[in-house]
This record gives sequence, C-alpha cells and structure tokens, in this order.
Amino acid sequence: MLAEADVVVAGGGPAGLGAAIAAARLGARVVLCERYGFLGGNFTVASVGTICGLYLDTGDGFDFVVGGIAREIADRLAGSGGGVGPIPFKQTAVFVYAPWEAKRLADHLVTEEPSLDLLLHALVADVVVSAGRLDAVVLATKRGPVTITGKVFVDCTGDADVATFAGVPTVLGAPGARQHASMQFMMQHVDSEAAMAALGELGDLIAEHGAHLSRDGGAVIPTLRPGEFLGAMTRVRNPDGSPIDVTDLRQATWGELEGRRLAAEAASFLTSRMPGFADAFLADTATALGVRETRRIVGAHVLTGADVEAGATFPDAVAAGAWPQEYHVSGRGTEYRFLPPGRRYQIPFGSLRTAGIENLLVAGRCISADHDALASTRVMGPSLALGQAAGTAAALAARGDCPVGELDVEELQAVLVAAGAQLA
Ligand SMILES: Cc1cc2nc3c(=O)[nH]c(=O)nc-3n(C[C@H](O)[C@H](O)[C@H](O)COP(=O)(O)OP(=O)(O)OC[C@H]3O[C@@H](n4cnc5c(N)ncnc54)[C@H](O)[C@@H]3O)c2cc1C
Repeated sequence: MLAEADVVVAGGGPAGLGAAIAAARLGARVVLCERYGFLGGNFTVASVGTICGLYLDTGDGFDFVVGGIAREIADRLAGSGGGVGPIPFKQTAVFVYAPWEAKRLADHLVTEEPSLDLLLHALVADVVVSAGRLDAVVLATKRGPVTITGKVFVDCTGDADVATFAGVPTVLGAPGARQHASMQFMMQHVDSEAAMAALGELGDLIAEHGAHLSRDGGAVIPTLRPGEFLGAMTRVRNPDGSPIDVTDLRQATWGELEGRRLAAEAASFLTSRMPGFADAFLADTATALGVRETRRIVGAHVLTGADVEAGATFPDAVAAGAWPQEYHVSGRGTEYRFLPPGRRYQIPFGSLRTAGIENLLVAGRCISADHDALASTRVMGPSLALGQAAGTAAALAARGDCPVGELDVEELQAVLVAAGAQLA
C-alpha cells in the first residue's frame, strides 16, 4: 500500500482536476492518480485549444453558465495572458488558451492544496472491491502493483476504467452513435496576421482543394503565441471506418499512427493552400490521440439528449450546461445542434452515481448520459463542473462516513454554490 486517502481521484483531466481540488479545499486527504507525467487530460494531452461550455448565449451577449473551479481556471489563464474569452464561435462562444499555460496552471492548482497528494505516472490498472464497496485502486508502477486505499473514489478516467474494473455496467456506442477521435497538431512560424484574416476561408479552401483530407469541418486556432496555431483538422478512424476504441490496444496503436499521418497531411495542405502558412512548419502533434467518447457508466440516472434539448431541470442538479450538441460522427463534417438563446439544462447528481458501488462517483465524459446528451456535456466547462460536484460530494461522504447515495443533496448543492458553482 502506497497511500491511504479520504478521497481517491483516478484521472487528472478537467473532471479529475475539478474533483481533486474541490475535495482538497473541503479538507479531505486526496490522492490524485494520473497515468501521464502531467495533468490536464484532453485540455493538455490532446491540445484541444478552447474551453467550450463556459458560456450561455443570453440573446444579448454571453454570460457564464459554469462557475466555480472552471471559471477560476479561465480567470487565471486570462490573468497570465495564457487565455482569452469569450470569443464568439458560430452561435456560441469559447475561451481560447495556450496548452502549455494550461499544463503549468494545473501544476500550480494542485500544489497549492496542502491535503492533495499527486501521483503522476500512476495508471489505475485494477481495483479491490468487497461487499459493494471499493476498498482500493491498484496502480501499475515500475516497482510492480501498489494500492491506494480510500473512503470514497471518483472515476475521472474518461473511459470509466475504475467503474469497469469494479463491475459497474457501462455502454459503448455503436459506430454511428459514437464520436470519432482526432489528432490535433501545432503549426509554428505562421504569418499570424495573414492567417487571422483568412480564418473564415478554410472551409471553402478544403471544399475546393481538400477532398483528400479526413475532415472538412475543422479549424485552425491561434494559441495566443507569436506565429503559432493549432490544427483541428483530422478525423481518425479504424481501417474499416469505425470510431477508434482506445480501450483496445490494437485500435489505440493504430489511432496514434494514423493520427500522425493525417496531421502531416493536413499540415501540408495548410502550407500549400492557406494564407499565412506558406513558411510555417508542423512543430509537433499533440502528446496523444484526442478521444471524445468511449465507455460511459449506466448509473442511477441516465441524462438524455431530449433533456439537453428541452433545458431539463432536476431537484438533485449539481451542474448546468448550454453547449450545443456537437457531433463528430458521420462523414467528414461536424454537426452542431444549438440550444435557443437563454436555454440551459441541468445535470443531476444521479448521473454521477453508480448503481451497485456505494462509495464510487464518476465525472467528466464517462458520466451516465446517452450519446446525444454526451454530445453537449462532454466538453471541458461541464466536465470541470461535474468534477467539482463529484469531488465535493466525495469529501462530504468521506467526512460523514456515508454512502454517496445517502448524502443530503441540499447540503451538497449549498456547499457547491458557496464555492461559486452554478447549478442553474
Ligand atoms: C480532438 C478533441 C477536440 C476537443 N475540443 C474541445 C474544445 O475545443 N473545447 C472543449 O471544451 N472540449 C473539447 N473536447 C472535449 C474535451 O476535451 C473532453 O471531453 C474533456 O477533456 C473531458 O474531460 P475528462 O476529464 O472527462 O476526460 P479526459 O480529458 O479524457 O481526461 C481523462 C484523464 O484521465 C487520465 N487517465 C485515463 N485513464 C487512466 C487510468 N486508468 N489511470 C490513471 N489516469 C487515467 C488521462 O490520462 C487523462 O488525464 C475535445 C476533445 C477532443 C478529443
């Protein structure tokens, strides 16, 4: 046994960051286990380039729909010059950031919390369960397996690894009902002024000259650093056209190789066709393939696409969202289904709770939601908010020594609101 904790968080992406920081700020002894050598998940690993889902289109400008730690991260990035928002995007708005700045901010955020014990290079490979409770996660380390015991566990692995190992039912959407992966890439030595002036032309250029590219609905995103843009222009599929399931090693390996091939292809298109990119070069691809959707749990409540569209409300709401349903599913394009101005939906605590394991919560892109709800909730604003909700609930359950299903939801909501979270 390497450590014992009140709250064990598996995965240090947006959801895991929100969960670990929220629990630590309530005084819980937290162990945060992340498989890579840095934090951030898709925020940094996949260099996605914008925080989506932070804002509500009020019909008269943009307001925050997510508060708490998500807003704090945006404010701190903006304060250091590492990000800026809201930037209008289609019928909504995003927060643009530099991935390096996000990586360093995550370092600062976790090391500022005295009761947060960070373990990097800590892959959760198994769990120990007894009588409907999780006793420990098992980490694969260079010295062999070690365990971390805890009172409450939060699965923020994106792929529901902990829940799966614990025997919680999960679903994986069939091809056609599951998002494709993408490999982001970084272009440097761009003539930023010329490129910015031509941003709106990329779609037409691809339509005219880019029939060979894997995606036609992509974009180049400024990183706020001189001459640097992110390429969001690939759709990475298996050889048979199906979405990559990274829980399968063979598909995960194919996805990385194919992703780099497609990134090089798209970069070459940019240097030959896109104004401002003639003297640019492909500096690197993201650290790993960007994964939008794999396993999600079937929990106490399943949030549906109809809930998102209708702006559903729930008595046990722990977060709110307003991002459109964004699909990277069929063909080469990206489909957006926008909510009307002013409409937001709530996400219930039941979507974070598993049926069966009394001390396990799930947050981020593997919550209990159907494919159409996940198309909106999976982005980083809601993922951070759900992480904060799960971490807060975990800390309260550990303090009260009670199953997460027996928590006083009104108290949970009050603690979240006191910490700046927006539930409606
Ligand atoms: C290409 C792409 C572009 C996107 N663009 C945007 C965008 O512009 N704006 C936006 O807001 N959202 C975007 N998204 C969506 C968003 O990034 C994710 O849905 C969001 O990051 C989900 O957060 P998460 O914490 O649930 O999961 P993840 O970000 O996937 O984080 C999971 C974390 O858990 C770790 N982990 C996984 N398994 C284990 C394990 N067994 N043990 C230990 N650690 C583990 C991972 O290393 C990772 O750090 C994009 C996604 C992709 C793939």
